[in-house]
Amino acid sequence: MRRRALFLDRDGVINEDRGYVHAVEEFHWQDGIFEFVGAARRHGYLPVVVTNQSGIARGLYGEEDYAALTRWMCARFEAAGAAIERVYHCPFLPDAVRPEYRANHSWRKPEPGMLLAAAEQLNLDLGGSLMVGDRWSDVAAAAAASLKTIVIVGERSHETAPPALPSSVRLVRCASMGAVRDWFTDFAKLEGVISPHSKKMNSWSPP
Ligand SMILES: [Mg+2]
Repeated sequence: MRRRALFLDRDGVINEDRGYVHAVEEFHWQDGIFEFVGAARRHGYLPVVVTNQSGIARGLYGEEDYAALTRWMCARFEAAGAAIERVYHCPFLPDAVRPEYRANHSWRKPEPGMLLAAAEQLNLDLGGSLMVGDRWSDVAAAAAASLKTIVIVGERSHETAPPALPSSVRLVRCASMGAVRDWFTDFAKLEGVISPHSKKMNSWSPP
């Protein structure tokens, strides 16, 4: 059985985007994120983080800094009953300072590579999956991966959508993470997405 994912960008969605965040003390959680991710999980959506980390290519921090922060972040989600299924990151950049990261990589949003890799590895139903991002590159990556419901959160939610967005995409605009959480409560009711598996999250059948 194909599963649905809740794809989450990191900076600007999970934590405040203060620019190249790479340490615990710079990581400021968005209000409502644990409640939202926990609710999505209970309703059968696997939380998957997809994050561009060009700070690595720019030489601002290393893979080890990123990994340590990610471990800490995932432990906090797990303790809050909102476990993250998997985290994908793209450290590449076409004009990277560090030559080993200099690439026009298919994982870097707005390309859909991270979502497509997750779909293959986690056996996901992309059309039934959700994406929450705070940039139009998040929206574009999700649309390119054939997602139908895409949420843009934060100050860019007031901007005009790029004309390239397919008409099949339902774009949801939310000013804050609290608004995303409230939207999801209504969405889950309307869509009837509560699955027989939703009460026991560890009982998924093997793909
Ligand atoms: Mg972001």
